[in-house]
Amino acid sequence: MIPAWMGLAVMACFQVTDPPAVPSDPPSPPLNVVVFLVDDLGWQDVSVPHHTHPTSFNERYHTPNLERLAAQGMVLTNGYASAPVCTPTRTSLLTGRTPARNRITYWTFNKDSDTTARNPVLSAPPWRMNGLEPHSALLPEVLSDRGYRTIHIGKAHWGAHGTPGSEPTNLGFDVNVAGHASGAPGSYLSRHHFMNSRSETDFSRSSRWDVPGLQAFHDRDIYLTEALQERMVEEIRGAMGDGRPFFLHFAPYAVHTPIMPNTAHLDRYEELHPREAAYATMIESVDAALGCLLDVLDEHEIADRTLVVFTSDNGGLSAHARGGTPHTHNHPLRSGKGSAYEGGVRVPWVVRWPGVVPAGTRSDQPVVTQDLYPTILAATSPAPTGKNPERVRELDGIDLASILGGGEVSRHPEASDRVILFHQPHTWGARGPGIEPYSAIRWRRWKLIYFHSDRRFELYDLAADLGETRDLSLERPEVLELLIARLAAELRDHEAQMSIDTVSGKPVEWPDEVALSSGTNR
Ligand code: CA
Repeated sequence: MIPAWMGLAVMACFQVTDPPAVPSDPPSPPLNVVVFLVDDLGWQDVSVPHHTHPTSFNERYHTPNLERLAAQGMVLTNGYASAPVCTPTRTSLLTGRTPARNRITYWTFNKDSDTTARNPVLSAPPWRMNGLEPHSALLPEVLSDRGYRTIHIGKAHWGAHGTPGSEPTNLGFDVNVAGHASGAPGSYLSRHHFMNSRSETDFSRSSRWDVPGLQAFHDRDIYLTEALQERMVEEIRGAMGDGRPFFLHFAPYAVHTPIMPNTAHLDRYEELHPREAAYATMIESVDAALGCLLDVLDEHEIADRTLVVFTSDNGGLSAHARGGTPHTHNHPLRSGKGSAYEGGVRVPWVVRWPGVVPAGTRSDQPVVTQDLYPTILAATSPAPTGKNPERVRELDGIDLASILGGGEVSRHPEASDRVILFHQPHTWGARGPGIEPYSAIRWRRWKLIYFHSDRRFELYDLAADLGETRDLSLERPEVLELLIARLAAELRDHEAQMSIDTVSGKPVEWPDEVALSSGTNR
């Protein structure tokens, strides 16, 4: 097959008349972009070590294709999701902004319906509980304007049922495969028609958790991730035939609950607790889809002009629905999905970008989901389009080129001295360490958490104490004071909506107001 950009060059040759044009280099082929966004995949849920050394989890899970991607690219060991739950991270990817600035700080479901769990002393602020609305500055809209074919496959979860944002084609995607408002599949099995009723004979009882649009697979024996993988290959081949560069957002529903095994992979994990064995097969199925992606890029000889980012939308689930002891599945990180601690937000991050990212490298520079927006825009066009000035305004993410290039990052203060803000003024349904309304920042080696319910601060030195076991807020008052000021400045800059104190009916104080009024952090 003749690549589209060569086709253009051939057409140009036919238009040449006497005298012949001076030979020149063909135009650079445009860059394809793939964001492979796994759901709920924890930092330790892969066989590619993200810690300083391989762990027992790295040995447990089997992700050879991620190993292949990492060998050809960069592992970002301090990679974060924008939030500890789904929708805020997913909307940050499409906007380049933090959940706080978007005011989409929690997961969405039904129109005008708040999913926040009850809390005895706090209520949620008036956040955008319908999620994303159509907007010309969304990442797929901008790429579409730049001539890209924009493809969404899998879990969307950007907007609530009954709102335009529930449908990815309203958000700039040309193609939507199986995406809608719900953040989990009813079933991973085709014999259930991927429906929540999980019947093999009666398909009359529909639910908002039923996966839409995969009717072609209903009568085959196929696992959901494999069905999405097949559609991915079809869509990439279609994009090649259509002659445009493509932006693929491949977002498997896995490894979100319901934890259901892909029996094709079960043999490898028979020593594990059955629930954990099932979870491991879900991971391996995701990795198989990644392998399929890499194979089809190789088949079409476009791997060298395709940026591939592999990451997750929040930390690994550990509070419930897992086998073994709760809150231990992301060790050495503390806690898991939903939590303010590292287990809630630190996730696998691997980037392959031939010619830019040195193969087989690692970086410990902190990066976060919203960075992908400016990174992808810079990678696909060297300058803003100028069509809409709003598109380059108020971005919270940074262009990761200086980090991904593997050079001296200290020359780039926007990357080396940055503050990453986390803000979740919501009570999650499950309970566990750090699972409560909070704001936090990561700055250099430090992390400050401000828990809204009792206005307490916790300070951790992640370089020395990755597991957040030793609160240094009393031992290091000078660091505490500095970080409280920075957290307060970030929250004000983002016009963050604080939790509401149900007694006073007022928003919880900014962090620097707490410190000033009490004279201490307790
Ligand atoms: Ca998620």
